[in-house]
Amino acid sequence: MADVTKKKRKKKGRAGDLKNIITLEHVSKSYETGSPALDDISLKIEKGEFVFIVGDSGSGKSTLIKLLLRELKATEGEVKVLGYDLNRIRRRKIPMFRRNIGIVFQDFRLLKDRNVYENVAFAQRIIQVPSKEMKRNVPEILASVGLAGKYKARPKQLSGGEQQRVAIARALVNKPTLLLCDEPTGNLDPKNSLEIMKMLEEINQKGTTVLVVTHNKEIVNSMEKRVITLKRGVIISDEEKGAYIDED
Ligand code: ADP
Ligand code: MG
Repeated sequence: MADVTKKKRKKKGRAGDLKNIITLEHVSKSYETGSPALDDISLKIEKGEFVFIVGDSGSGKSTLIKLLLRELKATEGEVKVLGYDLNRIRRRKIPMFRRNIGIVFQDFRLLKDRNVYENVAFAQRIIQVPSKEMKRNVPEILASVGLAGKYKARPKQLSGGEQQRVAIARALVNKPTLLLCDEPTGNLDPKNSLEIMKMLEEINQKGTTVLVVTHNKEIVNSMEKRVITLKRGVIISDEEKGAYIDED
């Protein structure tokens, strides 16, 4: 009995009082071929920040996201996320680690044969949320992304903007500490792109740490957030209230 209590306390404590949600120290990542995708990157992201990651195609943005999720392991350097040392984490602990992270992709990645409600509920079923709680959480999160009337729609019956809202609801329903978005507006028109980014900003204002990889220069320049710019695997700038650096 005492053991269980101790374990629970430890689990809760891990991300609870962390200042830095993400710490990278001299991180490099090489694939089997080519030059390093990331080359000696160091950065810290504090709890509650909203950060844009920008850079040309091939500059290492998605590789960075994959390191943060521990889909990939760094070739060199230290990667710490939510208090977990990702070089040392045991394989069986990875699912537990990932429960604290929501992820949104450019191509939505919804289950095509399930409706909106089921797409979001699925995330709760995976972590075995009791059905009573699930029935409260799913409608609540769908309402918060403006999809209260769309429970029964299949993904193909929705616009791109609506599909991305479903993906955001799915990413948030388990109340993650950290939300990672890899080009979330890459498939959307300007109006929907702005709406999605504003939604991510609101999510951040409610306390979730948000990291957004994007190519959307206008939005980055208008939102005045921290901007980290990658070029060929190197951080070439990291600015509070930054702008999209155009080198062309
Ligand atoms: P971005 O998301 O900024 O476009 P990526 O992180 O996808 O960049 O890619 C960075 C570099 O790593 C590119 O040169 C890319 O070709 C290379 N790369 C990405 N994934 C792989 C892989 N699985 N195997 C080999 N090289 C890869
Ligand atoms: Mg990418």
